[in-house]
Amino acid sequence: TATLYVVATPIGNVTDITLRALHLLALADVVACEDTRKTGALLARFGLSKQMVAAHQHNEREAADKLVARLRAGERVALVSDAGTPAVSDPGARIVDAVRDAGLNVVPVPGCSAAVTALSASGLVNDRFHFVGFLPAKAKQREAELAGLARMSATLVIYEAPHRIVDCVASLAAAFEPTRQVVFARELTKLFEEIHRCRMKEALAWIKADPNRERGEFVVLVEGAVAENDDALEAEADRVLQILLAECP
Ligand code: SAM
Repeated sequence: TATLYVVATPIGNVTDITLRALHLLALADVVACEDTRKTGALLARFGLSKQMVAAHQHNEREAADKLVARLRAGERVALVSDAGTPAVSDPGARIVDAVRDAGLNVVPVPGCSAAVTALSASGLVNDRFHFVGFLPAKAKQREAELAGLARMSATLVIYEAPHRIVDCVASLAAAFEPTRQVVFARELTKLFEEIHRCRMKEALAWIKADPNRERGEFVVLVEGAVAENDDALEAEADRVLQILLAECP
């Protein structure tokens, strides 16, 4: 039946593709993707050759209309992005929105996402996390956004491109307490995978210590603010102050 399958693909290691993803890609009449060369290479790796249509951030609305028409004609459409889960810091949401608006079927086919992959190996308390995605490229806007996140108790999940990682870490170091834990998850599932945890005060020096660290893709996790502890500290300071005031002549 006519269905849009939202299919997650690997974020590095191709063997992370799921059996269900392969099955549905094989069944699809058309694969909507960001980059037909990249997706073509992934499909070829698994012996698949499929009709592909480009659906990227610059043509997503037009692509959505065309895909809705194909679904109405009874086709099965698989939607993928270059890496990980479509519509998560990637194109796809507009297509899903249009297909839902048209009253057609949408089925998620879960798999990798860099955010959850990084969280799982971080050792941070991840009962709550806040997905920030990409921070603004401009320093002023980035700092304003970080100021708004500084008191949040959830772990923060930030995506960053290699050419901006140093600037990003400098802004993080300015926005958060020096003792806050930070985890750098770099090149996840790839040959040079590196997951490093340190305090915020050590973060900039760590990034700069090896020029290779300014390459590759990053998820940066920032430990959430410990609100209760701050309150407890304030209460304790108050208690001590009262004792001192009572003792003072
Ligand atoms: N849709 C993807 C997902 O589900 O995670 C995210 C795509 S977004 C355009 C690309 C960003 O995801 C990168 O800049 C990086 O922050 C993160 N990312 C993707 N693959 C990664 C990997 N192998 N290691 C670390 N971060 C990765």
